[in-house]
Amino acid sequence: MNKQHVFTRAIRTIAVLAALFLLFSCGGSSRSTGQTYKPGTYTASAKGYHGDVTVAVKVTKNKIAAVRVLEHGETPGISDLAINGIPKAIVASQSLAVDSVSGASFSSKAVITATTEALTQAGADIDKLMVAGQSAKKEKDETLTADVVVIGAGGAGMAAGVSAHQNGATVIILEKMPKVGGNTISAGGAMNAVDEGSETALKNKDSVALHFKQTYEGGDKKGDEELVKTLVENAWDSVAWLQSMGMKFLPDPFTVTGGLWPRAHKPVDPVGTGFFKTYNAYIESNKGIEVRLNVKADSIILENGKVTGVIATGKTGNKITVKANKGVVVATGGFGQNIAMRQEFNKAWPTLDESVKSTNHPGATGDGIAMAKAVNAQLVQMENIQLLPLGDPETGSLSGNIETDVEKRIFVNTEGKRFVDEGARRDTMTLALFKQPGAKLWIIVDAHSYPQGTKKNNFNESIDDLVAAGRAFKGETLEELAKNIGVPPENLVATVADFNKHVASKKPDAFGRTLFSEPLDKGPFYAGARIPTVHHTMGGIKIDKETHVIDVNGQIIPGLYAAGEVTGGIHGTNRLGGNALTDITVFGRIAGKNAATGK
Ligand code: ADP
Repeated sequence: MNKQHVFTRAIRTIAVLAALFLLFSCGGSSRSTGQTYKPGTYTASAKGYHGDVTVAVKVTKNKIAAVRVLEHGETPGISDLAINGIPKAIVASQSLAVDSVSGASFSSKAVITATTEALTQAGADIDKLMVAGQSAKKEKDETLTADVVVIGAGGAGMAAGVSAHQNGATVIILEKMPKVGGNTISAGGAMNAVDEGSETALKNKDSVALHFKQTYEGGDKKGDEELVKTLVENAWDSVAWLQSMGMKFLPDPFTVTGGLWPRAHKPVDPVGTGFFKTYNAYIESNKGIEVRLNVKADSIILENGKVTGVIATGKTGNKITVKANKGVVVATGGFGQNIAMRQEFNKAWPTLDESVKSTNHPGATGDGIAMAKAVNAQLVQMENIQLLPLGDPETGSLSGNIETDVEKRIFVNTEGKRFVDEGARRDTMTLALFKQPGAKLWIIVDAHSYPQGTKKNNFNESIDDLVAAGRAFKGETLEELAKNIGVPPENLVATVADFNKHVASKKPDAFGRTLFSEPLDKGPFYAGARIPTVHHTMGGIKIDKETHVIDVNGQIIPGLYAAGEVTGGIHGTNRLGGNALTDITVFGRIAGKNAATGK
């Protein structure tokens, strides 16, 4: 089977489908759209997620000859498929009825809207170009075979696939979305790991034992000790493994929100994109490993007590049977976007119905949990669902966040008063937030965090962009800031004065906060609104430390492995910030290796 670069493959798939679609909507008789254009090149812009997306559209008398995105500020890695694939699909199908890319719908819409505007200038009949075609012709059913089949091309699945391949296996990774990445690609990008005994670890008074203690105790000692031990003991080796494949990290670890200690290693590439750049480069330069996009796994094949493959559905509804000579790895991520499951298992939060948003990508629907359950897998700690207090009020995503070191910010409610230790565990902060008016907080920072308006967050957004878009607010003084966000100025001034006293004394404050660095005393001051948002589902499939899936009777299900957010029992009641990327990399690697070697 030919190995394809995953993005190229997705782009080609979209293009082919769109072309087919038009062909069939025209009765299959002709590719002509009957359109006439004023020949020339037209440019137009439309709003994307981060400012304008500008396209140039070249038309001849009766053809859209080329569509090119000239400028955009969309997040690299996340928007690539929309920015590169949609123009090609429009040209291939000679139509505007092309699919948006899930997970990049704003960027997709911007490309389509700007192209529509440019084609209007060219005198096109837009209504005709917008006619949605019939669904594409069903592709043939097929059977594929590999040594190891991985379900899900997020961080855990890609780690498992690459690791299986490095251990001699041929690998097929199935991904139901049109792109790789899952939640991981938009993750904050902090990976906890201790390089035991190194200068940095000594300087930060850090150790693998402390990482264990904080992870285990941070989850109220409900995590499986063996799994936690496996996590922390293999964390640094996993960073080194990624580095060995070319991934770059910033030199100094930092304290990520809810991470409790400066041990989070931040990739140089934005958000989680560095992981996929690294894995894609490996897949591109090796034979015998491929990612199949737009293929949704439906069930796990169990024959005579052993897992032997996966039944899946292709984009056109065709059945794809994928046989696994050695093993199947379930790496489908969590169920943060499955409201029925959230409601079914939630015990800790006032509600997790549709009123509560999520940071998760749309594909986080718990499919792997259902598939594993159907072959008798045991599920553990499903009620442990993590929320963050840092969701965008409109979308629940982490974009728009005013990022800074935990030490340098405070949270205030709409009264301008602090209500929690901002360095506390994520659940503590979010439960406290639910109790505030409107369950809304303002992050407050000053010029110590943002010395220049051009400083960007993880999502490539500068604080100036956020202020201009009304997603953050600025004041030269605290009073001005308070007026701009509608909180009583005297309260905000008093809150900050009290906070600054503790910064000076370094004594724990009324909320138990102990992490301090600089005072909030240097204008300009900035504020951004945030709400509770579902972030990580910590329960899931029970595994042992070798990532074997354990059944309801406590026995290993032969041939079945699981890794990443789909598994349960590692993080207990509360996952430390920065431990997810460690989890998916450590356990993904183990799953891939064991599936390849039959361990
Ligand atoms: P993790 O962090 O555990 O790797 P992610 O959310 O990053 O989790 O990745 C999980 C991936 O699995 C996502 O890309 C998601 O679209 C994919 N996925 C989920 N369900 C299925 C399924 N039924 N078939 C194929 N891929 C799936």
